Amino acid sequence: MTFNELKIIEPILKALKAEGYTHPTPIQEQSIPILLRGKDLLGSAQTGTGKTAAFAIPILQNLYHEKQRNNGLRKIRTLIVTPTRELAIQIGESFTAYGKFTGIRNTVIFGGVKQGAQTQALERGVEVLIATPGRLLDLMDQGFIDLKDIKYFVLDEADRMLDMGFIHDIRKIINKLPSKRQSLFFSATMPPDIVRLSRKILGDFEKVSVMPEQTTAEKVEQAIYFVGKKGKIKLLVHLLETELVGSTLVFSRTKHGANKIVKMLGKANIEAAAIHGNKSQGARQLALNNFKKGLINVLVATDIAARGIDIEELSYVVNYDLPNIPETYVHRIGRTGRAGFSGIAFSFCDVEEKAYLRDIEKLIKQKIPVIEEHPFLDFNIDVLHENPVKPKRPQQSKRPQQRRWTNNPGSGGSGNSHRKGPRTFSRKKP
Ligand code: AMP
Repeated sequence: MTFNELKIIEPILKALKAEGYTHPTPIQEQSIPILLRGKDLLGSAQTGTGKTAAFAIPILQNLYHEKQRNNGLRKIRTLIVTPTRELAIQIGESFTAYGKFTGIRNTVIFGGVKQGAQTQALERGVEVLIATPGRLLDLMDQGFIDLKDIKYFVLDEADRMLDMGFIHDIRKIINKLPSKRQSLFFSATMPPDIVRLSRKILGDFEKVSVMPEQTTAEKVEQAIYFVGKKGKIKLLVHLLETELVGSTLVFSRTKHGANKIVKMLGKANIEAAAIHGNKSQGARQLALNNFKKGLINVLVATDIAARGIDIEELSYVVNYDLPNIPETYVHRIGRTGRAGFSGIAFSFCDVEEKAYLRDIEKLIKQKIPVIEEHPFLDFNIDVLHENPVKPKRPQQSKRPQQRRWTNNPGSGGSGNSHRKGPRTFSRKKP
């Protein structure tokens, strides 16, 4: 399947080519025809699947046709509501990139900054508005935004939106939308309250579902280190000095955390760079290029900044913090184990993150092996086990090294499997 076959118009095809997109991703292949037919859409998909382009391309295409009819009069025709500033910026960048030959303008509004530049952009006129809920309602109350001309409405990352307590804001926003519109609803997970919300927003809809491949988790060798907050940096330094010999992508939950990790590694004479939303595009690109060229071995990233990073020979992923969304874990570890290589992913888990670990193991239907012996275990490991089990030392002589690491989910046992003693992790090409 090509974008041509999806009947994408020339100005957008040209932009996609400039972006280096050769083929649509599965969610794009499924969603674009539905959206060009004018149907509502319920998408089970998370970031990293190409979902932004899946909605941005058809919306731009429809707006392009309308623009020809409206003699270029700019009205806010599209509203995209997304939970975070980072996502809003990314979506804005995508609309700018895919729409650069269409003449369609977008702007992004979010809280935490002065509103002047945002209201000026609105006054200049845009067809596409990307917003976080709080600032949107604020500028609506002040009279800068009217939703009466909205024809396309996208609610992005609905589950995160609810987790972040935006439900009342969302309700207020949808009450202001014209009833005649095309609505798109995206969520990585579909618990009952999300389904209920989707029913409130969507009319006659079609569903597409693109979840991360579960098999990714099976291809990647994984291990957990239970370690207190304070021990994490020491453990990372120790691992980088002893066994992480190769390019290592370290995930941090926050931007501030990413900066701190880089600083602390620097103190241990380990060169690393951070990429996250507060870094300029130039700084991010430089860090990424240096990493790809092997000039630095350690890149510390937030989830959002790591989107789109495609490094074929990434040896290791380290989850310095466990993500609270289990699908994010699958997405993170899927960064390694590409191009036929087996990947290796280590995760650090402190007491407060144990619940996240449980959710992750439920999703991937595997127990992740635990490395119990390491120098920075600064609390009693038993507090982490609901059903503490006495670890058995594996019979090393009887099993091949790699096999001992394969954790068979069907092998029974209530706790995680445990491993002691030295490890040798080697990447293997099948
Ligand atoms: P998203 O799921 O929208 O966050 O997209 C994830 C990443 O995939 C982004 O970096 C996009 O630029 C990239 N991407 C989206 N669609 C395509 C495509 N058809 N071909 C290659 N890359 C893509």
